Amino acid sequence: MAGTPAQARTRDYVMSQMKAWGLETEARTYDVWMPHPTEVHVWRVGQGTDTRELSLAEPPIEGDSTTTLPQYPTVNGYSGEGDVTGDIVYVNYGLIEDYAVLDSLGVSVKGSIVVARYGRSFRGIKAREAEKHGAAALLIYSDPQDDGYVRGDVYPDGPMRPAGGVQRGSILNMNGDPSTPGYGSVSGTRRTPADQMAIPHIPVVPISYGNAAELLRDVRGTAIPSTWQGGLGFRYHLGPGPVRARVVVHDDRARPTVIKQIFDTFGVIRGSEFPEEIVMIGAHRDAWGPGTADNVSGTVSVLEAARAVADALRAGKRPKRTIIFATWDAEEWGLIGSTEYVEDDSLRLMRDAVAYLNQDVAAQGPRFGGGGSPSLRATLRDIARLVPDPNGKGSVYAEWRRQAAVPDTAEPPMGDPGGGSDFAGFYNHLGIPIADWGFGGAGGVYHSQYDDYNWMARFGDPGYAYHATAAKISAAMVLRLANADVLPYDYVEYARTMRRYLPALEKSITDRKWSNVSTLAVRASIDRLEQAALAFAQTRDAALAGNPSVDVLRRTNRALLQVERSLTRLSGLRTRPWFRNLIYAADENNGYANVVFPSVTEAIRAGDAALTSRELVDLAARFESAARALGSAREPLVARR
Ligand SMILES: [Zn+2]
Repeated sequence: MAGTPAQARTRDYVMSQMKAWGLETEARTYDVWMPHPTEVHVWRVGQGTDTRELSLAEPPIEGDSTTTLPQYPTVNGYSGEGDVTGDIVYVNYGLIEDYAVLDSLGVSVKGSIVVARYGRSFRGIKAREAEKHGAAALLIYSDPQDDGYVRGDVYPDGPMRPAGGVQRGSILNMNGDPSTPGYGSVSGTRRTPADQMAIPHIPVVPISYGNAAELLRDVRGTAIPSTWQGGLGFRYHLGPGPVRARVVVHDDRARPTVIKQIFDTFGVIRGSEFPEEIVMIGAHRDAWGPGTADNVSGTVSVLEAARAVADALRAGKRPKRTIIFATWDAEEWGLIGSTEYVEDDSLRLMRDAVAYLNQDVAAQGPRFGGGGSPSLRATLRDIARLVPDPNGKGSVYAEWRRQAAVPDTAEPPMGDPGGGSDFAGFYNHLGIPIADWGFGGAGGVYHSQYDDYNWMARFGDPGYAYHATAAKISAAMVLRLANADVLPYDYVEYARTMRRYLPALEKSITDRKWSNVSTLAVRASIDRLEQAALAFAQTRDAALAGNPSVDVLRRTNRALLQVERSLTRLSGLRTRPWFRNLIYAADENNGYANVVFPSVTEAIRAGDAALTSRELVDLAARFESAARALGSAREPLVARR
C-alpha cells in the first residue's frame, strides 16, 4: 500500500536485486497529499431495532492463508469525509446517461445514499456524477453479472468474485498528486490547499455484492428500466427507500501525516553508442492488497527483463542506448509515482526518451493483448513473433491471431493509449511513444484481498509460464529499441491509423450540420505524413545496407524523436491542460474509454463550430510539423549516399 512502511521495503528489495545484477540504481522520493482512512462504516438503517452495521472487510477463504492477513480498509482512494444518512437510490452504473434516465423518471438522488454497480466507466466518474447530482454518499459494488457467479464459479471454486469480495480503487479524476498539479511533489514544494483541490467531497465506499444485496433487496419505489436488472436474486427497484443507509468515512487529512512519502526506483544500464537516448520500461509496485496480478506480475516482468539484460551485459553485450528499468509507487491512487517523476524530469524525458513501455497486470491468464502508440505496434508484433507461447503451439503472435480470429491479412486489434496506467504521464503529458502488453483471463479478484498467490497459482497462471513469457517480451522489446541503428518507429502505420479515424470525425461534423467546418487540411496533412514516412522508410533501408556512420545515425534518430513530440502542444487540451497529446486522451466523461483527436472531438461536443475549425487547423499544422520532422530524419541518410 502506497504511503506505508511496506513500500520502503519493496523499494529496497527491488534496488538490492538490481544492484546485485550490476545495474546502477537510483530512488526518487516524492511527498504526496494522500489521506489514509481512519474509519469506514456502513449501516443498513431500518425502522426501529433492525438497524445493523455491515461487515465491510473481505472474509477469509478456507485453504488460502493470505486471506487471513491484515487487510487495507475497503475504501475508495480520495473519498470525501463525512457521516451521512439517507434513503437508498439504485443508479445502475452511475453513468451520465443513467442520471438522465432517473431525471426522466422523476427520481431525484438529492440527499440520498446512491448505490451504483462497477463497470462501464472509471469509478472516479461515478463519484463525480453522484456528487454533481446531490447525492450524500456513493456506495459502489461489483454486481455478480459483471464479475461474479453469473460469469463463472467464484473463488475458491473458480476465479470469479465471491459474495464477500470488494473492488477497492481510487476515485481521483486527475493524474498525480492533487496538491501539485503539473509539477513534481518534491519535498518542501508549494501546494494547493485541500479546499481548492480537484478531489471528491462526498464519502464513497466500495462494497461486496453480499452487502449490496442487503441494501437493495427491500428497496421499492419506482420500477427499474429493464436493462438495469443485475445478477442478484431479486427484482431491483430504484427507490428512494424505504431502506436507508448511514455511511461514515474519516481519514487523516487534518493531520500532518496526510503527506505521505512515496518511492520510485530506477535501475540503469548505460548505452555504448547513444548513451543519452533512453528506453524505459516500468511497472507499479503498489497494490490494494497482495496484488499478485496487479501488479506483482508487472513488477517481476520488469525485474526479470533487467536481470536478463544485465546477464547479456556481463557477457560483453552492452546495449547501444541507455535502458532504465523503473518501478512506480502510488499508481493505484492516481498514477501518482509515475506522474510526479514525469513532471519532475520532463525536460530530459522530452529531449531523450525513445519509448516508455508499461507492464500493468502482465499475466493473469492465457490471452495476449497489446497496444500503445501506432508507431510501436509493428515492433511489438515483431517481438511477439519471436517469443514462443506457453501453449507450445507456436509464437505468442500466432496464438494472439488465433484467439483474435482475424482474417488472413488483418493484424490482431491493439489498444489505443487511453488512461488508467503509468504510461499516461509519458504519452498524454509529454508525447513519448508508449507500448504495453500482458496476458489476461477471466477473473473477479481485481483490487481485492483475493488477488493473491493462491488465486494465481490455481487459476491465473498455474506454473507461471505466462509471467515468464511477458518478461521475455519485455527484455526483447527493450533490447530491440535500445540496439536499433535507426529507431524502429513505423510512421506509415501511424499515418494510416490516423486516416481511419477521419470518417467518424467527419460524420460527427455532418451530424452538427456545420457545412463550413472542413477536415480537408487534416486529411491532406495526414497524407503528407504518410508520404514522408514512406520516403523515410525507403531511404533508411537503402542507407542501412551501406553501414552509415554513428554520427549520421545520431542525427537521424534525434530528428525521429521529434515526430510524436510534434503532435503535442504545450498549452494542452482546453478542458485539461495537463493533456498535451492531441492524438489520444482518456474520455473526460468515461475515464477508461479513449477519445481520438481530443482537441477537435471536445470542440465538437461543446457544439462550437468556430472552435472546431480552429482546432482542425491547429491539428493539421501539427501533422505537417511531424511530417517535416520525418524529412529532417531522412536528410542525413540521403546526404551520405
Ligand atoms: Zn495496476
